[in-house]
Amino acid sequence: MAAKARKTPKPATPRTAGRFCWSCQRQRSSQSFSAPGAGRYLCRECQALGKDELDFRSARANLERMMTDDGLVRRKQRRHFRKFLDDPRPRVKELAEHLWRLDRQVRTEKLESEAQPEAPANDGTAMEFMAEEG
Ligand SMILES: [Zn+2]
Repeated sequence: MAAKARKTPKPATPRTAGRFCWSCQRQRSSQSFSAPGAGRYLCRECQALGKDELDFRSARANLERMMTDDGLVRRKQRRHFRKFLDDPRPRVKELAEHLWRLDRQVRTEKLESEAQPEAPANDGTAMEFMAEEG
């Protein structure tokens, strides 16, 4: 019998192939997903995680979306973010508190690095920036 026609190797998969799993935050092959879903995709691996873990990851993704790459909570999101500090789910609350502290820390460091020793033009605007308590 004639040898099977050798398939030419497929070109490298384009980056847009597959879907982005919101839970593990990875771009994964379409085969990693069970069915075409609507909107948010969850890969098979993550589907097996169970409700609590997914619930936590969902909240985590929400929190991380509210932060800049610098580790700051976006100004317009601060009110919303604060609600998570009283979240009934202990892990979510803990994570929110952690990110909130990070935000504080980054703000403090920013202020310190921006403070010009020879130009103490501090008319209180810096403090306003810090003291944004609700
Ligand atoms: Zn996943």
